[in-house]
Amino acid sequence: MSEAVLYVVATPIGNLADMTARAIEVLQTVSLIAAEDTRHSARLMAHFNIKTPMISVHDHNERQRIERIIERLSAGESIALISDAGTPLISDPGFVLVRAVREAQFRVVPVPGCSALVTALCAAGLPSDRFVFEGFLPAKSLARRQRLDALAREERTLIFYESTHRILASLEDMQACFGSERMVVAARELTKTFETIKGAPVSELLEWMRQDANQQKGEFVVLVQGAPAAAADDVNVEAMRVLDVLLEELPIKQAAALAAKLTGLKKNFLYQAALARRDA
Ligand code: SAM
Repeated sequence: MSEAVLYVVATPIGNLADMTARAIEVLQTVSLIAAEDTRHSARLMAHFNIKTPMISVHDHNERQRIERIIERLSAGESIALISDAGTPLISDPGFVLVRAVREAQFRVVPVPGCSALVTALCAAGLPSDRFVFEGFLPAKSLARRQRLDALAREERTLIFYESTHRILASLEDMQACFGSERMVVAARELTKTFETIKGAPVSELLEWMRQDANQQKGEFVVLVQGAPAAAADDVNVEAMRVLDVLLEELPIKQAAALAAKLTGLKKNFLYQAALARRDA
């Protein structure tokens, strides 16, 4: 292993006072900062008097930049990766770079700090022992509904990122796929002046948000209570009924694939169930 290091450095998600002392020190001492948007990060750098040169590494040039970054690491220069806000790689660029740097046998050192998903989860009042981070939902409604349908029976707390443009549409689709009574928490503008964390059954939350356009503005984390465990049993009973009907007409593989589409359960789970039913 070489001495040079790639630091993955978290930065604030709104409130600059959330910058850690270690993040400032690392950013001041590395040879280069790879930033998602150098103009955006220039403000952060000015605030903390960080004068280290920056290059951009974003979704569209990450692969091209890898060679240059590995060259600099090979020359013994340590580099820090930051994104526009929060932790790099969390719905942000960096995964391809981190993988390549590790493959090239350099150390990757995380410098932890803010991430909107953990910030929201710790204040939402939803079960936090097991959760699923889904990032952004698809922009188009059909694809979004398909994704949500597939998650309707998930028992763990679900966490999504959402923007002001789609918050109402996404909540409407959640209502359609999860039912009006499912508890949803919208965490808006975390750590900023207009921080609001509102939890209610999704139909009530939608009504509240529709009545106040200000509540639709800003950045959101949307957290959804998991499906009750009993529902999973009902679903399984129904899924087996569907599977049995399909198995009368179709080969196992096709029956399992179609049953997965109809029930939202995993194809492999249904395939194994179909094999067991055939053997029985
Ligand atoms: N890397 C970031 C992190 O660690 O949380 C996430 C970057 S992602 C491109 C931006 C999204 O994160 C926003 O659209 C929003 O869903 C969420 N987000 C970021 N900052 C937020 C904040 N202050 N309040 C609520 N959500 C926020």
